Amino acid sequence: MKKNNEIKTPTKLADLGEFGVIDKITKGFINSNNSSVLGIGDDAAVLDFKDNQALISTDMMVEGVHFDLAYMPLKHLGYKAVVSNLSDIYSMNGTCTQITVSIAVSNRFNLESLEELYLGIRAACKTYKIDLVGGDTTTSTKGLIISITSIGSAKSKDIVKRSGAQINDLIVVSGDLGSAYMGLQVLERENEVFKVNPQNQPDLSDYTYLLKRQLKPEARKDVIDFFADKKITPTSMIDISDGLSSEVLHICKQSNVGCDLYEEKIPLSEEMKSGCEEFKLHSTTIALSGGEDYELLFTINQKDYDKIKGNNDLTVIGHIIDSEKGINLVTKSEDKVPITSQGWKSF
Ligand code: ADP
Ligand code: MG
Repeated sequence: MKKNNEIKTPTKLADLGEFGVIDKITKGFINSNNSSVLGIGDDAAVLDFKDNQALISTDMMVEGVHFDLAYMPLKHLGYKAVVSNLSDIYSMNGTCTQITVSIAVSNRFNLESLEELYLGIRAACKTYKIDLVGGDTTTSTKGLIISITSIGSAKSKDIVKRSGAQINDLIVVSGDLGSAYMGLQVLERENEVFKVNPQNQPDLSDYTYLLKRQLKPEARKDVIDFFADKKITPTSMIDISDGLSSEVLHICKQSNVGCDLYEEKIPLSEEMKSGCEEFKLHSTTIALSGGEDYELLFTINQKDYDKIKGNNDLTVIGHIIDSEKGINLVTKSEDKVPITSQGWKSF
């Protein structure tokens, strides 16, 4: 008879073999998109986008560089890895329908830990109606590496690039900024406390929103649906993964324009503001250079303003100007300072 306190011995990956592992982790995924003609199990997946153009985007996440398993549970990691990829397809104003997931794992990981990772991947696939149609599984000498490719489509006329912003366009952002970065500050602090005193049980209830933004971010598919509903085509768009300043620089440089961004308009959550006070950080700096919010930054023609003004989740934070006038932050004290920061950098 199974005793209550019996601990299940973890299943070694080597005992299952590569194909055994693939079978176990990909079981339970069901394709739901018509464009997924053939999924996992052959040498390649087959997709059919009819008369739409295909959108493809890839990201890689490396343990110790992009995530730390000390405070990022594997299930959340799986969810976030998918969401951050989908965000790149949505930021082209496209629909995402498939992903492939490639993992390199060291012998530190067992089947159960990979299953946790795939539970998160599956949850994201379910939320966003995405089919897992392939991937690769291999070993690493140390640590976990995840690479996800997201695949989507859009009508060619609907695709929005970084390069289309025009003078006098409004600059708009979804949601609020900087909370994911503050969530990371909280987790890193608790991790240090835990290292000193593992008995310490932190009370994180004041930080629920910040932690959610760091550990379970969402991609703004709802904003893309809103555009379709209101018949809005932004003139340019990018997702905010590295911080507002870095993304606004991408849009302005690729569109060959300048901008005035108003500090007082940048949307911040209450939790983010009080977190910044507690950690003695400047909230505007964090909104400009903290990463991983996965909000959308886009520009629209002024004639579309009426269509967005009733949406409380979209904030106009500035406008596009001539490139010769610079890429500026207009501060609360009405000074103009050039935005130069590259935001969060991985190197
Ligand atoms: P190949 O030898 O052609 O690389 P694999 O044995 O690696 O094929 O993969 C078998 C099938 O399982 C393929 O359809 C592949 O796309 C899929 N697959 C492999 N690893 C993963 C993974 N980690 N997640 C999802 N699908 C996977
Ligand atoms: Mg393979």
